[in-house]
Amino acid sequence: DQARLAVLTTGPVMEDVVERQLAGRFDLVPLEALSEANAGAVCAIATRGKVRVDEALMARLPNLRIVGNFGVGYDTVDAVAAARRGVIVTNTPDVLNEEVADLTLGLLLATVRQIPQADRFLRDGKWLKAAYPLGPTLRGRTVGIVGMGRIGKAIARRLEAFSVPVVYHGRRPQPDVALTYYASLLDMARDVSVLVVIVPGGAQTRHLVDAAVLAALGPDGILINVARGTVVDEAALLRALEARTILAAGLDVFADEPNVPEAFFALDNAVLLPHVGSSTHHTRTAMGQLVVDNILAVMDGKAPLTPVAETPWPKA
Ligand code: NDP
Repeated sequence: DQARLAVLTTGPVMEDVVERQLAGRFDLVPLEALSEANAGAVCAIATRGKVRVDEALMARLPNLRIVGNFGVGYDTVDAVAAARRGVIVTNTPDVLNEEVADLTLGLLLATVRQIPQADRFLRDGKWLKAAYPLGPTLRGRTVGIVGMGRIGKAIARRLEAFSVPVVYHGRRPQPDVALTYYASLLDMARDVSVLVVIVPGGAQTRHLVDAAVLAALGPDGILINVARGTVVDEAALLRALEARTILAAGLDVFADEPNVPEAFFALDNAVLLPHVGSSTHHTRTAMGQLVVDNILAVMDGKAPLTPVAETPWPKA
């Protein structure tokens, strides 16, 4: 009898979708139960969120073939080290584009039109004494998207329906996008009054939005971050919000989740969400299914469905 292969899980990964389906064929080994006795059986890792899948972890798993990352952002997986070891890394692109774009528009409108603040005003009984004060508007603004990728494009499509001009920044112009491109984020921040950040996290984009970009955005400026907390210099953002050198921020992501600096809680010009961009039953189920389908494909000797860029998989 051949010993069963195992899938290592770095934490809960959609139990009802991922773990239930994989359990039929593999032993499931939670990270804390990994030992010399079971490491050799591990052929795949299913991972999500904070735990780092790094060289040291992969080095303990001589038969590892695939790391299936739950989420399109895989900044906690060392995909370069994986490639060096011949290990495939997959993520869950596209199935969450529309969901995250919906949330981004919701967060933008909530921030500009102060929707949570107005809700609190009503609940606090303040409407009985006075109307809610007039507030800022989306009208007359230009939105700059930082990262015109899969999700950025879905956000741009929605913004078109809101009749606001959209421009974008990335490392290069997108061939299929007719909007104005800025090679310099600083120049774009100067020209727009809303920045929507939706680039990948990791070392390359760390503090891409820094004090200088926030200063260029200016006192009427609004920052929406749905990317990763690391992309924005959080201390600089706090200072800018407190000093009103920018108008407001809408944040779905933070530098050290779930620890949000308490200074944010006192700000009436920030809308704060607990990283809920893709968190619906519909989309999380589709993401979980893609993790399963990638692992099963690779273990059946087929091509991974959605390998990340660093994975040297021969493209057909
Ligand atoms: P894509 O890879 O499709 O798009 C990323 C875009 O960012 C590309 O257009 C790329 O363009 C640009 N980019 C990459 N690196 C840089 C850089 N150093 N400077 C400037 N621009 C850069 O990714 P997705 O749209 O699928 O996802 C984007 C990110 O959104 C994910 O990596 C994840 O971190 C985050 N996300 C957050 C969610 C949430 O719940 N809040 C949910 C889902 C995703 P170019 O290569 O030309 O520079």
